Amino acid sequence: RPVILWFRKDLRLDDNKALNAAHLSGQQIIPLYINEPEAAGTGPLGAAQAWWLHHSLEALDRSLREQRGRLVLASGETLAVLRAIIEKSRAEAVFWNRRYDPTGISIDIRIKRELEKQAIEAQSFGGQLLHEPSRLTTGGGTPYRVYTPFWRALESAGEPEPPLDAPLKLQLAQKLPESETLDCWNLLPKKPDWARDFADLWTPGEQGAREKLRAFVKDSLEGYKENRDHPAKPATSMLSPHLALGEISPARVWDATRGLSKQVPAADIVHFRKEIAWREFSYHLLFHFPRLASANWNDRFDDFEWRNDSEDFEAWRHGMTGYPIVDAGMRQLWRHGWMHNRVRMIVASFLIKDLMVDWRRGEDWFRDTLVDADPANNAASWQWVAGSGADASPFFRIFNPVLQGETFDPDGDYVRIHVPELRGLDAKYIHRPFEAPKSLLDEAGVILGKTYPKPIVDHASARNRALAAYKAMKDAA
Ligand code: FAD
Repeated sequence: RPVILWFRKDLRLDDNKALNAAHLSGQQIIPLYINEPEAAGTGPLGAAQAWWLHHSLEALDRSLREQRGRLVLASGETLAVLRAIIEKSRAEAVFWNRRYDPTGISIDIRIKRELEKQAIEAQSFGGQLLHEPSRLTTGGGTPYRVYTPFWRALESAGEPEPPLDAPLKLQLAQKLPESETLDCWNLLPKKPDWARDFADLWTPGEQGAREKLRAFVKDSLEGYKENRDHPAKPATSMLSPHLALGEISPARVWDATRGLSKQVPAADIVHFRKEIAWREFSYHLLFHFPRLASANWNDRFDDFEWRNDSEDFEAWRHGMTGYPIVDAGMRQLWRHGWMHNRVRMIVASFLIKDLMVDWRRGEDWFRDTLVDADPANNAASWQWVAGSGADASPFFRIFNPVLQGETFDPDGDYVRIHVPELRGLDAKYIHRPFEAPKSLLDEAGVILGKTYPKPIVDHASARNRALAAYKAMKDAA
């Protein structure tokens, strides 16, 4: 009797514990992906990630076909789908890799219980994280709430298990239940095709992930610590969308930075590993404190008087705030479904503090537009910026978008790429066009308020307004 290998956010053959266990069972394998409307993390699957998922499933299917199998696609209520496939195929077991978001966990617990009632073996495995979220605890046995001690614990837990290579020859079932087609799932955008530029940057699927990792280790790991904050430089791995859908495992990424101490400064390797550890930390928080996904971690922020002005929000969404670094980031997001980490922090600070829009609206927009939308990283990072999170940047630390731009994009190269109407402006004013002399604006063909917006808020006054609201919240407590 065959076994079902249920793919979820682990769309890879490499370092896949569930796949290895299915292989070792010696039975024929039915590879399955279920389009589960109710299980997309902590909200519906975003449009940009749906694009990615479509291409990633195609890539996985291609890899399986190379081994004379194919991916079975099914949609509907998860347990009902599994039961129907088990009945048709007479499968004796289901194998999967664990997920750690609250919705996914509750679905999986129920499924395991129900399958076991029917004497169907249901086995789940780790591998989406370096360590199971319950493994690292404080001396008192409680979960970590602060990153630095979490990182120390991760370091002293020893090297994560080395990644497993994909089995050379999988025994894939030839007689398969009927599959739906990807086209019927409507994961790709309709007209207008807002994702038309995505493929310039991305190759969804595990091969694309391995190639990004290889290129990063070869070209950018050295210097990562210094360069990673500069959005115009190709200095980070861009592995986040691949990690989000599990096309590569964190253990494989970690492993690629082993044994390089002769070629690459230790500080760069450690810094990169620390970022991977931020992802672990976000999952650790989400796992132990599921409310992180939608509620203020620090519930004092429940009394914060958000303005939630819809015109401001629209200007932010469309990259039309009049602050070039903010607009460049928001337009990079439209164009490539991704944004550089430094700029994510700047645009989030601008939305929350300068515009006083609830972080959840920003988080929701990111979920819909990021190819790397991730229930743990997205919520934890927004709460970090808002100051409401577990280990958060204090609310009163408010980014100045002009100074941030000048520090991290000193020549304005990043702005020039994403805000073409400012391309000709002198570097001295590229982050503050509203202060540029008329002669320079004329020379660059910029008409403020016409070809490029005037600032929608004055940063200094907006900062005071936010600090006053913060003080009022604290005084009320
Ligand atoms: P690299 O610098 O190459 O880092 C390698 C990997 O480490 C990343 O792929 C990612 O998995 C992890 N990582 C890096 N930085 C962080 C971080 N600050 N927090 C957690 N993990 C990190 N990341 C997501 O994966 N999905 C999200 O939905 C998401 N939303 C964010 C929202 C906001 C407001 C902010 C400030 C950050 C968000 N991040 C999110 C974190 C971070 O911006 C991205 O992980 C990073 O930019 C991805 O680029 P990279 O793969 O080139 O990173």
